[in-house]
Amino acid sequence: MANKNKFYVTTPIYYPNDIPHIGHAYTTIAADILARWYRFKGYDVFFLTGTDEHGKKIENTAKKHNKTPREFVDSLIPKFKEAWKKLNLNYDRFIRTTDKDHEKFVQEILQKVYDKGDIYKGHYEGYYCTECEAYYTEKDLENGCCPVHKTKIEKLKEESYFFKLSKYQNRLLEFYRENPDFISPSYRKDEVINRVKEGLKDLSISRSSFKWGIPLPFDKKHVVYVWFDALFNYYSATRDKNKEKFWPADVHLIGKDIVWFHTVYWPAFLLSAGIELPKRVFAHGWWTFNKEKISKSKGKVINIDELVRIAGSDSARYFLFRHIPFGEDGDFSENALVERHNNELANKLGNLVSRVSALAEKYGLKEVNFKKINVDIHISNVVRDVSELIERFEFDKALNLIFAFIDTLNQWVQDKKIWETGSKEDLFELATGIRLATILLWPFIPETCERISKTFGFKISLSELEKPLKVIKIKKSEILFKKI
Ligand SMILES: [Zn+2]
Repeated sequence: MANKNKFYVTTPIYYPNDIPHIGHAYTTIAADILARWYRFKGYDVFFLTGTDEHGKKIENTAKKHNKTPREFVDSLIPKFKEAWKKLNLNYDRFIRTTDKDHEKFVQEILQKVYDKGDIYKGHYEGYYCTECEAYYTEKDLENGCCPVHKTKIEKLKEESYFFKLSKYQNRLLEFYRENPDFISPSYRKDEVINRVKEGLKDLSISRSSFKWGIPLPFDKKHVVYVWFDALFNYYSATRDKNKEKFWPADVHLIGKDIVWFHTVYWPAFLLSAGIELPKRVFAHGWWTFNKEKISKSKGKVINIDELVRIAGSDSARYFLFRHIPFGEDGDFSENALVERHNNELANKLGNLVSRVSALAEKYGLKEVNFKKINVDIHISNVVRDVSELIERFEFDKALNLIFAFIDTLNQWVQDKKIWETGSKEDLFELATGIRLATILLWPFIPETCERISKTFGFKISLSELEKPLKVIKIKKSEILFKKI
């Protein structure tokens, strides 16, 4: 009962040693869309994002800037918060792995897992990429370099504590079998399962070569491996009294490069700690920029200011989720964004709102019996279908459907020649149709939708769709999307 009508969505916690860019924005907007949607449906929603602040990489970068790690990370957090504000992202908590409650919690868990006998001391030797904060095996390397960063990789040998990952191989395989949606989209599943079947090695989970991390409670010379620290943010954020009901997470949204950490390490840590496992991990693809991977080292980073500058926050949000299916890779180009801004947002949605509001200002509206309303034929289907698509993370298809409905409304204006007939009843129906499209679009483009709702005098909520539109005096809408 306690878990009824709750929805908990998370983004990865980001490394703050970089300004937020399109890759961070992509996951965080997706979480925002889902959070808005489930709030709409009356769910109790918890939307968590934040930053991953420990590790050697941060310690090194801070040193270069002549700052302590803490001062350094403190100086970077506002950049993330400002960026999320520009994109209208309404998260409930911005967690930092340096937050006191999180640090305390991770130590408690470590002690628990240690007492259980799942952590032991040994030596670790391997190839370590500081950028990834991850060890690689000889097999993973590409010409002696990190497979992700293509940079030279160092071989490390150090005393380390190990987590008995191998012990969880069969339980993980059993869990994947019993929870076929856990790894989503389904095309990402086989790779993980096959690798787990090949066998799991115990995982080094501590470092003694640097200090910037959470000390192991049973050996203060060591700090915990960043992934053990980072992954637990999802759970520690729910340890507040009024947040406990949100665990297990309904979905962890991540990029496809961190699937392994989230679908193998994370559930294994939780199994060891005796904590219920999350329901789903959904991994999206990568954006390329004119067909090349977006990366800082190659100088192809689209930061949030640039993204928003092209055509505004709503157009950016719209483009990212309309252009490619969520889950797959896509290519970003300014031209493609501008094209969708002009052809879809301005010409279709903007035009409809502008024409109907202008005609309604001139002729007024007259209520039509709700049962007989023509656009209503579409309404029930559109709401049901869009709802299903959003809940399956098929955002592009949901937007496609809403825009097909907008096309129908534009066609209506054309077919009925309303500028000649001045039919108040037809205008009422069109305004009702606009209300529907606006309400369904709100999770995607909230700012614009709020402007439309003011023009036509309706509230943005799903329950509003069950009532007839109130007839008010309408003034022609200002331009919603200026063409570029
Ligand atoms: Zn790397």
